[in-house]
Amino acid sequence: MKIEKNKVVTLVYKLQENNEQGEVVEQVQEDKPFVFLYGSGHMLPKFEEQLEGLSQEESFNFKIAKDDAYGDFQDNAVVDVPKKIFEVDGELREDLLQIGQVIPMEDKEGNQLTGIVKEVQEDKVIMDFNHPMAGKDLYFTGKVMEVRDATQEELEHGHAHNEEQEGQEEQ
Ligand SMILES: [Zn+2]
Repeated sequence: MKIEKNKVVTLVYKLQENNEQGEVVEQVQEDKPFVFLYGSGHMLPKFEEQLEGLSQEESFNFKIAKDDAYGDFQDNAVVDVPKKIFEVDGELREDLLQIGQVIPMEDKEGNQLTGIVKEVQEDKVIMDFNHPMAGKDLYFTGKVMEVRDATQEELEHGHAHNEEQEGQEEQ
């Protein structure tokens, strides 16, 4: 069976920055593979394009240019945040204010953002809201573990199901 729209695909892969010599960003292995519904619009389009037509047991390696991934690093996504927003019940969450700490936040419109602490100053914190892979090409090496038809329920939900998700999912 080949990878195409409405198949559930199981992969293992390694993601590196820029090329095969780049820093390893993510390593997905057989004990906890990545499972997704192909063509459901959740993945980078170029990622799906590269996998189309592959079968079980086939290996792959490909690069996705930053413009087709997370774009350029934006200087204006690095912002000063008043320290007091990290107060909970009047107490500063010092534990959050560590360089490199990843903090899920919300903007004024209620959009979910993820910021990384870059610097902690007297009364403000410098946060970087760029995607961690902004400004970088993505280099994937991996293998297709399984390709199967999506169930009717998966197609209705628009995502793949696996044993771990069963039972804890809201309908
Ligand atoms: Zn579901």
